[in-house]
Amino acid sequence: MVCAGTALGLAPALFCVLCRISPPEMDSCLIQVNSNTALPSILDVHVNLNGKGPSLPKGKGRKPHWAVRASEMSRRTFNPIRAIVDAMKVEPNPRKALISLSIGDPTVFGNLPTDDEVTRAMKEALDSGKYNGYAPSVGYLSCREVVAAYYSCPEAPLKAQDVILTSGCSQAIELALAVLANPGQNILVPRPGFSLYKTLAHSMGIEVKFYNLLPEKSWEIDLKQMEALVDNRTACLIVNNPSNPCGSVFSRSHLQKILTVASRQCVPILADEIYAEMVFEDCKYESLAKLSTNVPILSCGGLAKRWLVPGWRMGWILIHDRRDIFGEEIREGLLRLSQRILGPCTAVQGALGHIFHRTSPEFYHNTLSFLKSNAALCYATLSTVCGLKPVRPQGAMYLMVSSPCGEGEGRFVGTGRAFLPSLKTPHVGLFLGGEGRKGCWLRLVFYLRGSRWGSRWSISQSLRTMWSSQRGSLLSSLSSVYLPRASSTPTSSVW
Ligand SMILES: *Cc1c(COP(=O)(O)O)cnc(C)c1O
Repeated sequence: MVCAGTALGLAPALFCVLCRISPPEMDSCLIQVNSNTALPSILDVHVNLNGKGPSLPKGKGRKPHWAVRASEMSRRTFNPIRAIVDAMKVEPNPRKALISLSIGDPTVFGNLPTDDEVTRAMKEALDSGKYNGYAPSVGYLSCREVVAAYYSCPEAPLKAQDVILTSGCSQAIELALAVLANPGQNILVPRPGFSLYKTLAHSMGIEVKFYNLLPEKSWEIDLKQMEALVDNRTACLIVNNPSNPCGSVFSRSHLQKILTVASRQCVPILADEIYAEMVFEDCKYESLAKLSTNVPILSCGGLAKRWLVPGWRMGWILIHDRRDIFGEEIREGLLRLSQRILGPCTAVQGALGHIFHRTSPEFYHNTLSFLKSNAALCYATLSTVCGLKPVRPQGAMYLMVSSPCGEGEGRFVGTGRAFLPSLKTPHVGLFLGGEGRKGCWLRLVFYLRGSRWGSRWSISQSLRTMWSSQRGSLLSSLSSVYLPRASSTPTSSVW
C-alpha cells in the first residue's frame, strides 16, 4: 500500500495509508497526510490497483440516448435578486448618470474604501508566500483562535474549536442550514428579509415559514405570530440583527423575548450577525449569544460589511452551545459539511489577525458616522414627500420606505421586465419590488456620496421625483435613480 504514495510521486514517509473495504474491481485507498494543524487535511485518492476498470453498468433494457437534464436541485434553486440583476440589460442613458440605490455592496461607489491597515495586512499575507496552499477545511487553527478571541466574552466564551471559517457569511448560512435541517423540515425566516435564506432552503428541499417584522415597532418581530408558526418539523429560527433590508437594531429586551420563545419551543437559532457593531451611536448592538443562557446558537458573520471587503469572501460560524444541546453531533456535522469544498480563502486567513487588531478605531467610527449622516439625509428627504413613510434606520446600510398603495391603484410590482418602461421617465431608473403586508415597501441603500454623482440637492430631488412619478407602491430589493450628468444646482459638501 505504501507504493500507492510512491506511484503518485509523493514521498511515502509522508503518508499513513488506510485501506477501505472496496468493490472488488476498484481498490480505494484513503491517504492521510500528516499535518501539523489540528485538523489534518485528507487527500482521498481512489487507486486502481489491479489494472481493471470498474465494470460497465448492466442496466436492463437501457437504450443509450442523450437525455441530459438540469437536476431538480438546480431547478429548485432561485435567487430572485441575482436572477434579475444578472439578466438585467439596462440601456445606459448617455445624458444621465446612473445612481444605484439598490445593491448591498458598499464598494460600488468607490467612496467607502476599507482601512489601509486591512489592505496592508492582505499584502503582507501575500508577500509572505505562506498562504498560497490549502488550509484545513474549517480554517487554520491559528486563525480560528484569532476569531474566537475577538468575539469571546465572559457571557459567551469561545474557543478555536467553536469557530468554523467559511467563504463569506453566505457559506456560513448554508452550512448552518445544512447541518440543522433535513429536507421536509421547515425554518422560520424574517419578512421582509434577506432573500438568500429562502434561496438556500428551497434549494435544499427545506420549507420556509415567514414571520413578520413590524414597521410600526421599528421592525421588531411579531413574536406571537412567529411562535404560532413553530411545529414539530421546525428545525431552526433565523434572526437577522442588525437587519438587511430594514436597517433596524433589536434592543436587549427584544432579543431576550426572542430567546424566551426559542427556549420555550426548543428551537435553535441561526443568528445572521453580519452587521454586528454596525449601529449608530444612539443604540447598542448585542449579540444573541451573549444574552442566551440555554438556547444553542450558530452565529454567522464575516468581513464583508463591517470591514467593507465583500469580495474577499471571508465568513465564519461561531458555535454557542453552553448547555451542550448541539453536542458533538452538530460540530462533527459542520466539519463534514465543510469538507465538501474548501471554502475560506487561505490568503485572507493569513491577514485576519492583523485585520482585527490593526484596523484603526477611527476607521470604524468614520464609516459609521458617514452612514449615519447619509441615513439621516435620506430619511429627512423621503419624509418630505407626501405619502411616503420612511422608517428611521438605526444601523447597517439600508432604509425601508413605504407608500400607501390602495387597491386598484396603478401598482408597480412584478419582475424585471415590468420595470423597464420606467427607464424612459426622466430621472427615474429602475425599481423592482412587490407588495408588503401593509402598503408597499422599497429598500434603499444609503452609502452613496453626492459629490461624484451630483449634489446632495440633486439626489434629494431625484428621490422625490422617483416617488412622485411612480405614485409609490413598491416593495424592497432594487431601485436606481438617474441624475442629470451636469448638475446645474450648486454642489454642496460630500454626501
Ligand atoms: C451581505 C449579507 C450577507 C452575505 O455576506 P457575504 O459575506 O458577502 O456572503 C449575509 N447576510 C446578510 C443579511 C447580508 O446583508
